[in-house]
Amino acid sequence: MHILVIEDELKVAEALKKGLEAENYTVTVAHTGEDGFFQLNTGVFDMVLLDLMLPGRDGIEILTTLRKRGIETPVLILTARDAVEDRVLGLDSGADDYLVKPFAFPELLARIRLILRRGKKEQALVLVLADLELDFMSRKVTRGGGQIELTTREFELLEYLLRNQGRIVSREMLSHDVWHVKERSTPLDNVIDVHIARLRRKVDGPYDIKLIKTVRGLGFMMGEERS
Ligand code: CA
Repeated sequence: MHILVIEDELKVAEALKKGLEAENYTVTVAHTGEDGFFQLNTGVFDMVLLDLMLPGRDGIEILTTLRKRGIETPVLILTARDAVEDRVLGLDSGADDYLVKPFAFPELLARIRLILRRGKKEQALVLVLADLELDFMSRKVTRGGGQIELTTREFELLEYLLRNQGRIVSREMLSHDVWHVKERSTPLDNVIDVHIARLRRKVDGPYDIKLIKTVRGLGFMMGEERS
């Protein structure tokens, strides 16, 4: 689960990052509204923690723009403002929930879990291709009923390929959406290739039907193909 924290106070942002990482979330921090907006346009996040009072674009503006563009990533507003009208404005602008600072960290975690559970119901819980299944709830991957052990990155990579099955996935897309790196680079391409090779060994290695295909010069594609 990848969470974007948009918070200008460095100490608060750092504390959130540390706390959430300790709970096994992947965390990206943006310190300004502009950076937050940029991150949301280039990466894939499961959820956003959004501070309302930010320099430059404020939180409500970011939220309104996101929703206008059809980006439905769940947003939890974190703010020092406690006025009822602010709360209403936040929820009317498309926030999923609201938490007033200072808050207890366990409460934040509970709200995050609740929002993520709610969001999951609308998405497919299991991605399937041939006899390969990826289950989000249990984070398990099986092929022909046999379990395949994947690292977190391999799981995310496979998820991305499965969501785009039948389409070509470029290294550039993987840099952005799986590695969350803005610029494509040769060292990162190499890292991607190593991960693809490992994933392929685990997912396709022992099976007759290969599901991960290399499209020369372009990238990769998942689909059923006899070797
Ligand atoms: Ca602030």
